[in-house]
Amino acid sequence: MRQDPLNDVLQGALNSPGKALVLLIALGAFGAGYYIGGHGLPAALAPPNSSNTGANQDNISVRFSPKGGCTDAVVAEIRDAKQSIHVQAYSFTSRGIIAALIDAHRRGVKVMLVNDKKAADEQGSKASEAAEAGIDVRVDGRHPIAHNKIMLIDGRTIITGSFNFTNQAENSNAENLLVLHDKPQLYRVYEESFQQHLAHSETYTAGGAKPDRRTR
Ligand SMILES: [Zn+2]
Repeated sequence: MRQDPLNDVLQGALNSPGKALVLLIALGAFGAGYYIGGHGLPAALAPPNSSNTGANQDNISVRFSPKGGCTDAVVAEIRDAKQSIHVQAYSFTSRGIIAALIDAHRRGVKVMLVNDKKAADEQGSKASEAAEAGIDVRVDGRHPIAHNKIMLIDGRTIITGSFNFTNQAENSNAENLLVLHDKPQLYRVYEESFQQHLAHSETYTAGGAKPDRRTR
């Protein structure tokens, strides 16, 4: 008659103190694994997740979606803007972010938005709202997708990362957002890149872009 393998182990353990010790260690390891995999670890040791609060170091801060404060961080930087905001956006549907940009425009900050051409006319896009408010909105149709999500503020703040300026990126997607302050060498190349895309973009008008004679 075949014996059950586990029974073999248990029988062996009972017959040998050495094997019993091994069995105890194995059971202990299993229990510790179960404990770590479940709950009860101090927050600092818990596996990273996307609802943490991010971190700051050397004038750079990072946040993670969903619900990690990315939208609040972007809005706070826009509210601090005093001179200029250069935006590159793909999908752009965030009510809070467009409201902050329109506020900035109304208090005299020079706001420019370069949006992906197709995304600008998608449902929920805030491109037309921005244009109607008087913001200088261009659309970039030179790439399969103009996928940058960047804001350049006052010559000193860079906002970048995977975070689209959308409610979905805030509430449900897995995204990251970096905010960099006072990194002039990096700012310079970001601004150069913005200007390159601006130069081949067209002025946006709701429902379709018209060629922009100023940039051709
Ligand atoms: Zn471009």
